[in-house]
Amino acid sequence: MRAARMHGYNQPLVLEEVEKPKIAPNEVLVRVEAAGMCRTDVQLIDGYFKDYLPLPFPATPGHEIAGSIEEIGDAVPESAKLAIGDLVVVAGAWGDGTCRQCRVGDEQICAHGTWPGFSLYGGYGEYVPVPYRYLIRVDPKFNLTAEELAPLTDAGLTPYRGIKKLRQAGVVGPDRVVAVLGVGGLGTYAVQYAKLLSSGATVVAFGRSDEKLAIAKENGADHVINTRGRSITDIRSELSNATGHTEVDAAIDCVGAEDFIQMGFNLLATAGAFVSVGLVGTRINIPLFPFVAREFTYHGSFWGNYSDLSEVIALAQAGGIKHTVKQVAFEDINENLELLRAGDIVGRAVVTFGATASRKATAG
Ligand SMILES: [Zn+2]
Repeated sequence: MRAARMHGYNQPLVLEEVEKPKIAPNEVLVRVEAAGMCRTDVQLIDGYFKDYLPLPFPATPGHEIAGSIEEIGDAVPESAKLAIGDLVVVAGAWGDGTCRQCRVGDEQICAHGTWPGFSLYGGYGEYVPVPYRYLIRVDPKFNLTAEELAPLTDAGLTPYRGIKKLRQAGVVGPDRVVAVLGVGGLGTYAVQYAKLLSSGATVVAFGRSDEKLAIAKENGADHVINTRGRSITDIRSELSNATGHTEVDAAIDCVGAEDFIQMGFNLLATAGAFVSVGLVGTRINIPLFPFVAREFTYHGSFWGNYSDLSEVIALAQAGGIKHTVKQVAFEDINENLELLRAGDIVGRAVVTFGATASRKATAG
C-alpha cells in the first residue's frame, strides 16, 4: 500500500510503498478513503509533541480517518454490526480501558492511550487496522462522503466538546455573546456548534482572514470581526456596534496563540467562561487579578470521546453540519503540509488516494 511516513522530525514525509497491515482478531482493517490534514500533523512533524509523546519511527500521520471496511477480525462480535464495505469513521483515541478516564468514557485523556496517526499506521496510508470498538458506521442513505466525514473525527469534534463545556458552564443563552476565536479548520465547525448549542446566543467569529471569516458567516456566525492589526479598543468598539455588548460571556479559542488568548480574556465579561481547544502556541499568559476578581472560568478541552463523536456524526447525518473541504491527492501531501503550516488552507484539507476515493463528489 502507499503511505506518507515520517522517518524523523523536521523533514518532509517519505511517500513510499509499504506492506499492508495485518489485523489482530479484535480488529478491523479500514481502507482509508479520506484522511483530514490537521495542524497537529505539522506540529508532529516539527517535533512539538516530542517531549510528551516520543514517536517510534517510521510513523504515519493522519488521525482523521473515514473509509470502508476491508477485512474483519475473527473475534469481532456480531453485535458490533459491522460488515465488509461499510462506510465508517474512526474514533481516534484508544485508551487502556482500565483508568478512571477510560471507565467514564473519556479515552482521549487516558494517560496510556494510543492513537492512529501517531504510530506506525495512520490515515496518510491506504489501510489502517482499528480495534472494532472505535468504529462508527455511517448509513450510506445520508449521502455523506468520506471527505466530509474524516474531518469530523477531530476538526469537527474538538470544538463540539469545547462548546459543550461552555454550555455546561451555564454562560450561553439569549442576551449572551459567544466568541469563536479563529476561523481555520476547527473554527469553521465551532461557529456552527456555537449557534446550535448556545440556545439563542449571539455568535461572533474573530479571525485574521476575510476569506475565512466569510465562511464563518456562511456557517452561521451572526457577526465576524477581522482582528488583523487592530487594537483591543477598536475590536471592542466593533463588537459593541455589532452586538450591543462590549464583552463576551463565553469564548472558545480554536487557535492557541498567546495574543489571541489574551484578546479573548480581555473581552470576557465578569463570570464568563473560556475554553481552549487550539494548540498553536506553547504558553498561556493572562493577567491574574481580573481572572480572580471577575471570577472567570477557564476550561481545557481535548479532542472528544466516542459519545461526542457519535453525536457529531448524528448531527451530520441529520444534515446539520456544513462542510468546507479541500481534496488533496496523496502525491501532494508535503506541498499541502507547507500550506497548512503557513495557515493558507481554507476549511479542511483532506487526503485521498485516487482510486479509493469518493462515493460522490464533495459538496464543499
Ligand atoms: Zn485509560
